[in-house]
Amino acid sequence: MNASLPILGAFDLRDGSIAADDRLIDSFGRVHNNLRISVTDRCNIRCSYCMPEAVAFMPRSDLLSFEEIVRFARVAAGLGIDKIRLTGGEPLVRRDLPKLVAMLAEIAGIKDIGLTTNGILLADLAADLWNAGLRRINVSLDTMNPAKFVEITRRPGFEQVIEGILRARQVGFDPVKINALAIKNFTEDEVIPLAEFARSNGLEIRFIEYMPLDEVGRWRRSMVLFAADILEILTKGIGPLAPAADNDPRAPALDYVYADGRGRVGMIASVSRPFCMSCNRIRLTADGKLRNCLFAVEETDVRALLRGGERDESIALALRASVAGKLEGHEINSARFVKPDRLMHSIGG
Ligand code: SAM
Ligand code: SF4
Repeated sequence: MNASLPILGAFDLRDGSIAADDRLIDSFGRVHNNLRISVTDRCNIRCSYCMPEAVAFMPRSDLLSFEEIVRFARVAAGLGIDKIRLTGGEPLVRRDLPKLVAMLAEIAGIKDIGLTTNGILLADLAADLWNAGLRRINVSLDTMNPAKFVEITRRPGFEQVIEGILRARQVGFDPVKINALAIKNFTEDEVIPLAEFARSNGLEIRFIEYMPLDEVGRWRRSMVLFAADILEILTKGIGPLAPAADNDPRAPALDYVYADGRGRVGMIASVSRPFCMSCNRIRLTADGKLRNCLFAVEETDVRALLRGGERDESIALALRASVAGKLEGHEINSARFVKPDRLMHSIGG
């Protein structure tokens, strides 16, 4: 036992133990063990559902350093966070990302580190990420049609993404999950090609219902292709699907398996079947703001604490207060819904 390590409030970092009541539990009884860290708001493409073509990025000096991110993650781990996912913006445009993965992997209590990427830079970085300790990877890909890729992302890059996905499989990532946005009048024709690509390459595909996290006034409920419609397309085009026996009740995706045993499909039905009551996530933005929900309209300024000479105890208290103040759900489907000021790329999806 290391006597120089602090006791933070009611929990003790010296032996890594976390008493049940020291965990991050909100007023609805939800235990938070999952931290999503955005490492940049920048991106090398411009998906229209995520960000506008022209955008003012955060000044680099506003971004948390790797050391600041790791300090926050260490405090969070002391409160029961055991899963971390790196995201952005595009996380692979942040220089030396494998170094951050290795630093996070050393934190006691962190069992699982994942990454969500658009895949453009993945072919070059997959091996370094694997060697740094990353084991979970999700690659966003909305279409198997190169022209439609340019239409939705406003940039070329389809071939690089495919190469990145195949490289990630080669270096050992298993599964590689593909995230595809589900947008009406865009995704219908993509469902079968994406699902077939996934089935033939040992990948898992997940369809994510389009959410109002882009420019004000753009999203309409009528623009969402619902999970039920996608399941119908898959059933007709490929074959019957059944809910997976090992579905994790706390995961956002509801997984299905094909009757022929060749593959798995996930539905992230954030709009048609919100999963807020099982939410276990908190988010740290690239500029160090803690958000207790993707749709939060209030944030906690962790960067000010990190840079203001505050002790770990203050950061832990801020984390607890943020989780304690978490609302019941996102209310996308209600007239009360208030869109957050930040767009998806600056929150961290
Ligand atoms: N750049 C990386 C990528 O695209 O995978 C990571 C960040 S991106 C914001 C994370 C995920 O959010 C992606 O899978 C993306 O498709 C999803 N996303 C972005 N905007 C969205 C929206 N309006 N509704 C639902 N999902 C969205
Ligand atoms: Fe970039 Fe990811 Fe947003 Fe697309 S979804 S613009 S890849 S951050």
